[in-house]
Amino acid sequence: MEIVILTGAGISAESGLGTFRDKGGLWAQYDLREVATPEGFARNPGLVHDFYNARRANMRAARPNAAHRALVRLARDWPRDGHGGLTLITQNVDDLHERAGSPDVIHMHGELGRALCAACGARWDAPDEMHPLDPCPACGARATRPDVVWFGEIPYHMERIGAALRRCGLFVAIGTSGQVYPAAGFVAEARAAGADTLELNLERSQTSHLFDRVETGKAGRIVPAFVDRLLQAG
Ligand code: NAD
Repeated sequence: MEIVILTGAGISAESGLGTFRDKGGLWAQYDLREVATPEGFARNPGLVHDFYNARRANMRAARPNAAHRALVRLARDWPRDGHGGLTLITQNVDDLHERAGSPDVIHMHGELGRALCAACGARWDAPDEMHPLDPCPACGARATRPDVVWFGEIPYHMERIGAALRRCGLFVAIGTSGQVYPAAGFVAEARAAGADTLELNLERSQTSHLFDRVETGKAGRIVPAFVDRLLQAG
């Protein structure tokens, strides 16, 4: 059976990275129109770079937690059926899945650790600090930005994600509030394909009613327990 896992900010919360929509979350401290839209970047690129430079510093100081590590174990031990047994999609722009050891993570909202040239499309590893006048290493344009998907932009890898959702037998959403589309619609796509659906979240979310089963608790506890059960049954 093919498994698709979608993770959100909640899986990185116990690593010390702030979520967006929880009480005291990042959107309570910053105006998302100023720091996470193409229009905000055009108005004040320095402010947007400062915001992501701070996120990148937090990310580099953080460590993967037990939930990230449990998904590495699942990728390693889940039986493959010729299609690849597990597809891991994250909305997170942090690199904690990779640093825990997960192979082939699909970053649908991009990566804090990568930079993008808005002029020529070149991508490269982001330095610790990015600034508005940094030249693109490929074309020299002073139009470099973090390689993250802002509100109003199209998420990455949607064809590959759609194909995985159409063939999956189990869809699991971990630590996501289900408020950002298209990711919030994946559960419906998986159900339409006949998949069993499970939500693992700190508390019930806006989309809990769309899942066959919901388990609440901290990701660092409930994700390893879920992986143990699945591997014992599978
Ligand atoms: P969100 O902030 O909207 O929701 C986080 C969810 O995680 C909530 O439902 C909350 O109840 C749950 N949660 C909080 N602590 C938890 C814990 N210890 N264990 C399990 N669940 C916990 O985040 P989202 O749904 O991922 O929102 C999507 C957007 O947020 C994306 O655009 C994503 O790129 C961005 N984001 C990424 C990061 C990151 O890369 N670490 C951080 C914040 C936001």
